[in-house]
Amino acid sequence: MLLMKCYDAIVVGAGPAGMMAAIRAAENKKKILLIERNNNLGIKLLITGGGRCNITNICDVQDFLKNFSKSRDFLRNSFAQFFNADLLSFFEKSGIVFKIEENGCVFPVSDKAVDILNILRQKLQKNNVEILFNERVKDIIVKDGKVSGVTTISDKHLSVNSVVIATGGLSYPETGSTGDGYNLAKKLGHTIVTLKPALVPIIIKEKFIKDWQGISLKKVRVSVFSNDKKIAERLGDMIFTHFGVSGPIILDMSAAIYEALELKAKVELAINFIPGLNQQESDAFILHELKMHPTKTIKNMFRDILPRKMMEQFLKYCSLSPNVSAHQMAIEERKRLLRGLSNLCLTIEGVLPIKDGIITRGGVSTKEINPKTLESKLVRGLFFVGEVIDVDAATGGYNLQAAFSTGWVCGGSI
Ligand SMILES: Cc1cc2nc3c(=O)[nH]c(=O)nc-3n(C[C@H](O)[C@H](O)[C@H](O)COP(=O)(O)OP(=O)(O)OC[C@H]3O[C@@H](n4cnc5c(N)ncnc54)[C@H](O)[C@@H]3O)c2cc1C
Repeated sequence: MLLMKCYDAIVVGAGPAGMMAAIRAAENKKKILLIERNNNLGIKLLITGGGRCNITNICDVQDFLKNFSKSRDFLRNSFAQFFNADLLSFFEKSGIVFKIEENGCVFPVSDKAVDILNILRQKLQKNNVEILFNERVKDIIVKDGKVSGVTTISDKHLSVNSVVIATGGLSYPETGSTGDGYNLAKKLGHTIVTLKPALVPIIIKEKFIKDWQGISLKKVRVSVFSNDKKIAERLGDMIFTHFGVSGPIILDMSAAIYEALELKAKVELAINFIPGLNQQESDAFILHELKMHPTKTIKNMFRDILPRKMMEQFLKYCSLSPNVSAHQMAIEERKRLLRGLSNLCLTIEGVLPIKDGIITRGGVSTKEINPKTLESKLVRGLFFVGEVIDVDAATGGYNLQAAFSTGWVCGGSI
């Protein structure tokens, strides 16, 4: 079926990047069709930040860019045109109030991602962006090096001179992001930088950690070793799961862990529960605690440091009897306790697959995209925005800002 309705551009994918591109282009009086395979907008946006949407980070652009694994010079162009203050002001003008939490992470005061989505929905409506739901773009038609239309799964043929690929990555495929954009780009000659999991939970070999499932640790230092060489370290929060560990600092180190595992290295993770103290200070601290509470059994000590639910397995790990009292502890036992509290070592068996990650590493090569317009350097009228591009960052609001910034810049280039 050939549909000849005249659009200035078709945007494929109604995630944050696609919606922003469509809004900006429509504000510039372009006639836009937004095609989304789901029956609703921004399904993934709704689950960001645990449903609270960590929309950006307030740090300056230099620090912001440090959180990306690569492609920093590429993104610098988009951020120069539309950065964190611009994004917040975009929503504030529509009534959203933001708050800044730990490490500069910005959330709506309402703690509701749906409030962000509702503003985007209103702006799409106000600017007369047409939306085609439940439709999946299958191919992009190119003639003489220039986009001439798209075809869809239900066999619609739409003529158009500009197409924006905003299909996201491969993570959380149930939200609609199943990597279609990579295939569309590849068919048109684009290089896809190898797709890998990033920001994924880690699988731990030691089975006893199952008993720690659900326990979260605040402000611990976690170090990762590959063949005994430290490759990553973070201070912050983590959580035990039924298969291993997760939480912000674990997710941020997961890509490095994945790379080390690919090299078949022995990869281990060490947790320091008393990160503010060096080895000598830690020993002095433990000694002091034992002297202060001589009759207490060891299982009833260090409650401020170690959650009660961890104690049984922790003491087994340290080969310590739970009922030994502080004054009975031998030097060797104290040393084992010190090791456990400052260097609890776990073996990393693997990482969860890309589908379970927060973001996909890899994607359409930035070398083949004009950083100032987001247009393909290979096909005229073809644009890429958001996660489909080879950009990925740590947790903290950086990924959504990249999606919104590239969307905004592209929308202005159509
Ligand atoms: C659980 C979770 C929590 C997160 N939390 C945060 C956070 O708090 N802060 C942060 O910065 N980042 C967060 N992220 C990352 C963030 O969600 C992504 O960076 C962002 O959604 C990418 O936006 P996008 O528009 O490029 O892609 P997506 O949001 O993935 O949107 C792509 C859209 O394209 C549609 N689509 C795909 N193929 C087709 C096709 N062929 N035809 C039509 N439509 C198609 C999909 O259905 C989808 O709606 C989180 C991710 C996850 C999974």
